Amino acid sequence: RVKTKWAATRPKVSSHELALQNFDATYSMQFGELWPSVRVSLLSEQKYGALINNFSGDDTVTQLQSLGCRDFVASSLDMESGDAAQSISDDTCIHLSKVSISPNLRCFVFPKGDTSRFKAARQDSYGCLSYYLMDAASVLPVLALNVQKGQSVLDLCAAPGGKTLALLQTQTIRFLWVNDWSVSRMSRLQRTLLSYLPDQLCSEDKLHFTCFDGRKWQELGENTFDKVLVDVPCTTDRHSLVEESNNIFSRSRTKERQNLPLCQTQLLLSGLQAVRKGGEVVYSTCTLSQLQNQCVVEQAMKVAEQELGIYSEVVDLQPFTSLFKDTFNFAPDMNVGVMVLPHLTANFGPMYFCKLRRLT
Ligand code: SAM
Repeated sequence: RVKTKWAATRPKVSSHELALQNFDATYSMQFGELWPSVRVSLLSEQKYGALINNFSGDDTVTQLQSLGCRDFVASSLDMESGDAAQSISDDTCIHLSKVSISPNLRCFVFPKGDTSRFKAARQDSYGCLSYYLMDAASVLPVLALNVQKGQSVLDLCAAPGGKTLALLQTQTIRFLWVNDWSVSRMSRLQRTLLSYLPDQLCSEDKLHFTCFDGRKWQELGENTFDKVLVDVPCTTDRHSLVEESNNIFSRSRTKERQNLPLCQTQLLLSGLQAVRKGGEVVYSTCTLSQLQNQCVVEQAMKVAEQELGIYSEVVDLQPFTSLFKDTFNFAPDMNVGVMVLPHLTANFGPMYFCKLRRLT
């Protein structure tokens, strides 16, 4: 009789291969015939945007324009606000008929289909960096939060700080509370802010840093913010497909990965508790997963209602997305929230975001 031979160890599948297998199984169902195009884009080089640092003395804008880049925020506003009767503007906000946008947020991108890369940012004579390179889709949750002059804001999961920096570029915030439970990531965020902002903007009365577990925010009793950004940890789909180190699909992180929807729901619940009545929360992720996006929003709204008596409504972002449809590829037919789908000609995202208004 011949003994069947078994390998002593399981064949080694790398974390990024596991991620791809997982995405193929779930996203082919979720996106149907769109998935092959999203898949190839996810596996191709990501496109960046250059978030202009308004506190730098360098004339970066002219340099970027000479490279053929354009500010996607300003160009959308120019097209929309051409009709003066439709728009009212002050120095911190442009109010269009259905949406208002901060013109102080400027993010340059190369045109559709152009895969040129930005050079590393340079320091001005005061040591301030001229721009911050990030996925341009990451600016959208900040724009959607629509911070008005004099408002207080909580950035609940802030590190490494791209969106914090974007929030500060609006120059509208009276007080910003920056939180992330990771001490090392928070130190990195603080170093980043120091290389972009003048010292007076980093003073204690304007900026407050904590390393608190955001799921337990209610223990702090700080629940009067006008706006809250809840940019949660997720499967970071793009990162998981290319990076082996710190990959959430590694076997050692299986439990953490499975717990993500619960953790995300708890963080969003904290956001809903931290915001004042009438205030707004933006929930965002960089995953395509419905379980971590729409399902989390629906579950958090339900628990907030049933267990905390907090009623909220989903804010319609359709007028907002139609402003930026020439730059980003938005997923069709989303019931709750908005999704930027990666596309070879506009390889930004994935970026999911949903805006909630607290009613009670
Ligand atoms: N908003 C950041 C940005 O734009 O650069 C990115 C945030 S990242 C997607 C998620 C962050 O959540 C990580 O820095 C992680 O340390 C933090 N985090 C994870 N669990 C947390 C918790 N329970 N409380 C607070 N922060 C948490």
